[in-house]
Amino acid sequence: MNNDEVYDITIIGGGPAGMFAGFYAGLRNAKTQIIESLAELGGQVATLYPEKTILDVAGYPQIKGRELIAQLEQQLQTVATEVKLNTTVQNIKQVGDAFEVITNNGMTVSKSIIIATGVGAFNPRKLAVDNSDEFEGTNLFYSVKDLDHFKNRTVLVAGGGDAAIDEALLIESVAKQVYLLHRRDKFRAMEHSVDLLTESTVETVTPYLISELASEGDQVKITAKKMKSDEEMSMVVDDIVVNYGFIAQDDALSGWEVHPEGSRGKIHSGVSGITNIKNVFTIGDVADYETKQALIATGFGEAPLAVNEAMRSIYPDRRGPVHSTSIKR
Ligand SMILES: Cc1cc2nc3c(=O)[nH]c(=O)nc-3n(C[C@H](O)[C@H](O)[C@H](O)COP(=O)(O)OP(=O)(O)OC[C@H]3O[C@@H](n4cnc5c(N)ncnc54)[C@H](O)[C@@H]3O)c2cc1C
Repeated sequence: MNNDEVYDITIIGGGPAGMFAGFYAGLRNAKTQIIESLAELGGQVATLYPEKTILDVAGYPQIKGRELIAQLEQQLQTVATEVKLNTTVQNIKQVGDAFEVITNNGMTVSKSIIIATGVGAFNPRKLAVDNSDEFEGTNLFYSVKDLDHFKNRTVLVAGGGDAAIDEALLIESVAKQVYLLHRRDKFRAMEHSVDLLTESTVETVTPYLISELASEGDQVKITAKKMKSDEEMSMVVDDIVVNYGFIAQDDALSGWEVHPEGSRGKIHSGVSGITNIKNVFTIGDVADYETKQALIATGFGEAPLAVNEAMRSIYPDRRGPVHSTSIKR
């Protein structure tokens, strides 16, 4: 095989961590490919919360998910890293010092692998009400893809975590009235979010759990049961947005011939994303070590470490980087 056809680095997963690693690998002149199973880059940010305002990415006091991914794409386009969309890695095999990366669109060879598969393929945890499918896409949503849809409407958000509160506050900016329904009296969210909720016009409905949905013209009638009681209440709203978290199909990696150690869909990693397999690294939500926090900023920090470690391992004679722009001392 011509050595030009062999990638230095293959990044599996084009979420924020994989995208930034792809850019950084380009700065190192590494022949790099990013393989992403979805039709677009951006991982959880692009798929699950493009309209959310993100507050904890360095350099941006606030930025919408969609905008952050657009900025990452722009940055990625400044380097030669190849992006392969609609392509799922199905297996990795060790062949001598290199790896065969087997996808639904064929096979490539790579000297190193950076696994950035995040939480794996993910789907929202659905509302456990028999006829909920009938309302999905018209009055019932599992993420906010188009904020304009909620303009001047009455919306009930269900859920009690940070993401549910963020969604309620986001919709409040355009809706007529927002209700936040949660099965507990207390919200499981950051103090800052709870403060914003208290100051907002969002009305909380607790401790209730949705038990029935029924059509009421173009609207939907919600019946909810009070927890630990026989009491019921009902209300009619234009839309329901459910945020009960996501169920990730995180066991795909365990079927690969080369799969680093880990448990429950996470890969154990050391400093610089090092796994128990030489030249296989991991970054982002899938990488697991003590004190790990699954945040965009964490993945951004891990990406250059793994890329530099991969380059140091496959090209031990090359000088490592100091900065992307050199500073003379
Ligand atoms: C609702 C919600 C709100 C959040 N808000 C914030 C926030 O405000 N701030 C913050 O810092 N973090 C937030 N997070 C967490 C943040 O989104 C994640 O930490 C981040 O997306 C992790 O990036 P990643 O690149 O590691 O993985 P992901 O974003 O999960 O991307 C992984 C990608 O890998 C792809 N993939 C998986 N398996 C394969 C395969 N076999 N072959 C090819 N491709 C594959 C997937 O399709 C996906 O696109 C939030 C998460 C959620 C769900």
